[in-house]
Amino acid sequence: MPFRKVVLMYHSVSTPEVPAVPGSSPIPLARFQHQVRQALAHGWQFRPLSELRTAASANTLYITGDDGTVDWLRNVLPWCEKEGLPTHTALISGPWQEQPVYPVAHRLHILLALPGRRLPTPALTADQRAYIDRIYSYETNPYRRYLKGACNLVFDDPQARELLGPPDVEEARLLAGRFARPEEYRGFRCAEFGVHTVSHRAFGGDPDAYVREEVLPCRAAMIRHGLQPTRYLVLPMRPRFGATVEQITPALQAAGFEGTLEAMGEWDGHSFAIPRIDAKDVERHLGLAPWTDTPADPSRPAAAGVC
Ligand SMILES: [Zn+2]
Repeated sequence: MPFRKVVLMYHSVSTPEVPAVPGSSPIPLARFQHQVRQALAHGWQFRPLSELRTAASANTLYITGDDGTVDWLRNVLPWCEKEGLPTHTALISGPWQEQPVYPVAHRLHILLALPGRRLPTPALTADQRAYIDRIYSYETNPYRRYLKGACNLVFDDPQARELLGPPDVEEARLLAGRFARPEEYRGFRCAEFGVHTVSHRAFGGDPDAYVREEVLPCRAAMIRHGLQPTRYLVLPMRPRFGATVEQITPALQAAGFEGTLEAMGEWDGHSFAIPRIDAKDVERHLGLAPWTDTPADPSRPAAAGVC
């Protein structure tokens, strides 16, 4: 029986000192630490994502964090470095540009969190609404669900930006402070970094254009800033309505990629598309003790020490 290989997906992680970025749905760092300690106690080991396709000697977990927000950088990476825990952070290069391009999904997080904003209702067909209902079933508020669905899954990037309008002063300030600078990622021994596109837009059905406009420039920007990208592309969103992730696989393989991280679930150990387990589902999926809001026992070391 081969060992299990499970890829974990995180986004924002908060501490009292570095709160999560606005509009995200974070877990506390103490819960992340609880998951690590519990997994180790249950015999799991942690390995770098770049070793995903090498033989494992035990059931293995791979920590991935998406988007490179400042809370992830400042709360998670230093602790993992101290504990010798390998991580893989998916980076968006648009915010690093001289004329920054901020992801629509993150603009929407901010706009939905700021008080007193009312965004226009997007025009959608019944089929599009049904697709959105399926992907965003966890969003119980229809205003939020259809705005997120329209911007992230149905509209193309310019249409979504038109719906949102230009950022005002408050939004621009929050966007500017949301993503860590590339130089802040240098020097970590245990941290790996992967491509997460330039603008974080969804794949819309044209593989060559997506690789040319979103994937390769992000990879080049990372290299320019002294970061060595892995061969794993973390897809920023589910494919746009009408597109499938299988369409992009050959173009990514031709560009040297060994896998895409997208969708939810446990990996079969082979496929190019690698599903992940969400941060809020880790305890249940792995059969760990559930998270309760009690402070972690600092005397119990994580003792991962693999990098
Ligand atoms: Zn993302």
